[in-house]
Amino acid sequence: MLIVQKFGGTSVGDLDRIQNVANRVQKTVNEGHQVVVVVSAMSGETNKLIAYAEHFSATPSVAEVDMLLSSGERVTASLLSIALNEMGLPSIAMTGRQAGIVTTSRHTKARIENIDPSSMQKAINAGKIVVVAGFQGVNEEGMVTTLGRGGSDLSAVAIAGALKADLCEIYTDVDGIYTTDPRIEPKAKKLERISYEEMLELASLGAKVLQNRSVEMAKKLNVNLVTRSSFSEAEGTLITKEENIMEQPVVSGVALDRNQARVSLVGVTDRPGIAAEIFNALALEEINVDVILQTVAHDGTTNIDFTVPTNELENAKNIVKSFVEKGEIKSSDYNESIAKVSIVGVGMKSHAGVAAKAFSAMAAENINIRMISTSEIKVSMVIEDKYSELAVRALHSAFELDK
Ligand code: ADP
Ligand code: ASP
Ligand code: MG
Repeated sequence: MLIVQKFGGTSVGDLDRIQNVANRVQKTVNEGHQVVVVVSAMSGETNKLIAYAEHFSATPSVAEVDMLLSSGERVTASLLSIALNEMGLPSIAMTGRQAGIVTTSRHTKARIENIDPSSMQKAINAGKIVVVAGFQGVNEEGMVTTLGRGGSDLSAVAIAGALKADLCEIYTDVDGIYTTDPRIEPKAKKLERISYEEMLELASLGAKVLQNRSVEMAKKLNVNLVTRSSFSEAEGTLITKEENIMEQPVVSGVALDRNQARVSLVGVTDRPGIAAEIFNALALEEINVDVILQTVAHDGTTNIDFTVPTNELENAKNIVKSFVEKGEIKSSDYNESIAKVSIVGVGMKSHAGVAAKAFSAMAAENINIRMISTSEIKVSMVIEDKYSELAVRALHSAFELDK
């Protein structure tokens, strides 16, 4: 089999752990498989580099930020390859560019457009273990880009797709996907399997165990994706098609996203097309808007509230400002101390009363729900940030996920 193995930040967090990764790779090779490895930077490294950039500028040039951030993954890829060669396992380290990864030009959140796997394939055919620096690529002009936080997951899935690998394993510090973040609710249970759809919702709604774009791509390319621990032999969680899952609980998991901010637009001109203009402007900047709430109009104006990721709030404020200047919005207000808790499950499609049960669980804890949004397979609630963990545990227990 050809297996792509991705090791996250904690798994390559120091030199001993990189050696541990090398040993795991050796084991897989000894079982007779071909291996391509994708690595993250050492844990904390990307944050450290961002802080370095911000030491010099509050708004550092994104092209330079990308060149800087891509270095973290190059360090671990080279070190792992050195370790593998030393163990007598021929290996070659590659940057995103050398691995043939071409992306859009949107620095710090580029999308993969195309992968030319020929260099990787050549090395594999020559019997080498390819070790790719995750999280990065180059745009058409050859400028280094990065794929958004957690983007090494996406590198791994995209490479697995391009090489038509049999399996893509994501090694991390938990031994699979749990019913909720086990750091918040120790009673969380590991799932044997989860559907792409549910995993995509959980990841998009804050479960950082997998980057959401990586799940989207795995679904699109039909990549067999497994999440497991690099510190134990435990079987992981298979992320697969809905039809491969026997049991469909109403709710499969609870997600928490504390990096959300609420934007309130007051006195928005009430005319056809205004919402389209505002949200198109936000979309052009790739700002992920969620939970939109418009109140009933009177006096020819209306109020619109929505949430954005905290790290995109400044960007959103600038866009709102331009509408205020044009006289389309009277005033705006922002709140960063909010969080979004969500329940996700494909079983919701055929069950009534799921939202009501979630609201009752919040009520029982005296947690005020500020905003609500639902889809076929999720219910999200915006609450005060200080109640985050309580809310997660309340929902986890209300839907008996600990049973
Ligand atoms: P890596 O550095 O390996 O990419 P991450 O820190 O990005 O690892 O993701 C792993 C973390 O995701 C876990 O330590 C856990 O706290 C968190 N997490 C959040 N939700 C879940 C969930 N439903 N199941 C498992 N882990 C989760
Ligand atoms: N090092 C990057 C980050 O911290 C990418 C990754 O780890 O997947 O976001
Ligand atoms: Mg991650």
